[in-house]
Amino acid sequence: MSVIFSKTLRFAARYTDRAILPDLQESIISFSFDDCPKSAITNGLPMLEAEGWRATVFVACGLCDTTNHLGLHIGERDIIDLHNRGHEIGDHTFSHISGNSVNLDDFLNDVERNQQTLEKLGIPRSRHFAYPFGHVTPPLKTALSKKFKTLRGVISPQDQIQDASLLKAARLYSNDSVELALDEITKAKDSPKWLHLFTHDVRDNPSKFGCTRDDFAKIIKAVIKSGLPVMTVDKAYRTIMEARES
Ligand SMILES: [Zn+2]
Repeated sequence: MSVIFSKTLRFAARYTDRAILPDLQESIISFSFDDCPKSAITNGLPMLEAEGWRATVFVACGLCDTTNHLGLHIGERDIIDLHNRGHEIGDHTFSHISGNSVNLDDFLNDVERNQQTLEKLGIPRSRHFAYPFGHVTPPLKTALSKKFKTLRGVISPQDQIQDASLLKAARLYSNDSVELALDEITKAKDSPKWLHLFTHDVRDNPSKFGCTRDDFAKIIKAVIKSGLPVMTVDKAYRTIMEARES
């Protein structure tokens, strides 16, 4: 698929089947890790846990115990351990495939394969999904919105509006976006929004999709300073929906 066509599809998906979440009285911050490289759980998660916070880890089980540009990935035992430590396990397809590279049925089968692999490990079925590579097409968005409560993308937040079927999220990438994420945290104090912060590896020489421990510490410090609540994606979603109903 050409880059231009793929970008056009992604743009079209932004306006397909939107499920706009209600306005908030106070911002909520959610941290998520995608794929997931082991350095995120050995270096990143303990820093969140020290503050009493929990994260959402969007796992692609097919990457378990493999090594790629993000470093070594977690194994099945790590997934169980994360769940037992109170972190949320989200779906990210089994094979970490792009929605642009396979047909819809194959993509959905791969999503289900991940769910079933997690269930075999004793993990509840995921209620939340993150699009691998942020690739989204209108048919994919429509199909997945029937299976999950929220679908997270990689588009940076530009306003307070959140579409549950394509959640905007601020990247924590040391090479280009930590300052932007810090700015989003500051803005969230005055403009209530559900702010998603996500990254991949957390280590001293991160990939271009990850961040250093120092940068991750800077983000945590800014969140502490903001005084805003930190919740897993599912806890935040339930809080937002309950507030609407009350
Ligand atoms: Zn991914």
